[in-house]
Amino acid sequence: MDCGFPDILNAFEQALELERELGTRTVDCDRALLAPVSAATSAAAPALGQRASRPLPAANPEPRTPNPEPRTANHEPRTTNHALPTAAELAACTRCDLHGLGRTHVVPGQGNADSPDFMFVGEAPGADEDRQGLAFVGAAGQFLTKMIAAMGYTRDQVFIANICKCRPPNNRTPSPPEMAACVPYLKRQIALVKPKCLILLGNTAMRGLFPDMFVRRGQWHMYEGIPAIGTFHPAYILRFDSAHDAAGLRKAKLEVWDTLKLALARLGKKPPAIQKKGQTT
Ligand code: URA
Repeated sequence: MDCGFPDILNAFEQALELERELGTRTVDCDRALLAPVSAATSAAAPALGQRASRPLPAANPEPRTPNPEPRTANHEPRTTNHALPTAAELAACTRCDLHGLGRTHVVPGQGNADSPDFMFVGEAPGADEDRQGLAFVGAAGQFLTKMIAAMGYTRDQVFIANICKCRPPNNRTPSPPEMAACVPYLKRQIALVKPKCLILLGNTAMRGLFPDMFVRRGQWHMYEGIPAIGTFHPAYILRFDSAHDAAGLRKAKLEVWDTLKLALARLGKKPPAIQKKGQTT
């Protein structure tokens, strides 16, 4: 593959833009490492044309989505659709053992239930979700919010749900019988919400919805006529951060971003243009 200096700069710019879209506000960098790059940049700049001379994203821009939506308890889907499983219905469920294993709240899922562009499907509630009765409100949820914002949406414009509606003890992965018992609720949600595209977050979501086939991340499958694509679970991404594995983190984020762009493209959409600092529209 021919990969010249402008390609490297473009890839670098894209990587920085992704970092910014996904919430990174500062980038650690050793000055000594940057010296040859800036020397090469000034030497090569006249030959690179407009693309390479565009300003790189500001290192510390204003966040594009100022406030995540308020997180209220008992946040049922914004919908006129009363057939969706409610917290009350799910609280009475005894289809698997999870109802008796220390859960506080069931977590049905929430968001735009009137044919949104995207429905995100995770694994099962964690401690924060169990406390609040809302899907993806903890650390992984904050990362999901950034993914959604990077796509040009708010959490209110998409639907967010899980394979299992109750928290497994100690955040363990739900067992196959627990998933099989709970997945009909998700299937009912999908049938009623009618999302245009499903984004499956992590292996449990991929296995839960497609138990009989191997779903590869980043590849399309059809679920009841709805295009579905799998990617990493946000909690998996956060593990690279905790492990201070910057290279692993970048690679995983880029893969997720590629998949989110595929999902947008499937609906004929593009990620929103990135506002440079000082730009008003
Ligand atoms: N992880 C999930 O899979 N779902 C949540 O709601 C929160 C964390």
